[in-house]
Amino acid sequence: MKTIYIQDWILKIDAEKTEEYYDSITVEEGCDCAYCKNYIKNCKTFPKEVLNFYKMLGIDPQKEGEFMEFETDTGKHLYMGFYHLVGEIIKKPSKKAKKWDNLNIIKVNNLKFTFTDKLDLVPDNFPRPVIQLEFEVMLPWLLEEKI
Ligand SMILES: [Zn+2]
Repeated sequence: MKTIYIQDWILKIDAEKTEEYYDSITVEEGCDCAYCKNYIKNCKTFPKEVLNFYKMLGIDPQKEGEFMEFETDTGKHLYMGFYHLVGEIIKKPSKKAKKWDNLNIIKVNNLKFTFTDKLDLVPDNFPRPVIQLEFEVMLPWLLEEKI
């Protein structure tokens, strides 16, 4: 495991093990509803700094753990969800701050991220120890099909 520093977060991660896991599953195994397809299509247009952020952690953004989607009055879609990765949280920016407090938020381009060790829906075969990367992003609708 390697120690990394992101803003005021200190984490220990095993990006190689995480990457091996993501390599072992396919996008097709995921859900194929229009919301998921739109998300995956958007992943291909993510700016380099966002892709680099996921790559540093060993995560393939097209294979999300789970997300919720909300249509907003701007016509864009708010996606909120999470990914698992192999690692441990060594230090949070603040013990008291809530998950989405500004102290905890990592902004990478138009995405907001935070880490948590309160886990949801970890696959049985995901290598341990596990932490969760949570994200929020506004994305356009890129599919031809309407919902
Ligand atoms: Zn879906």
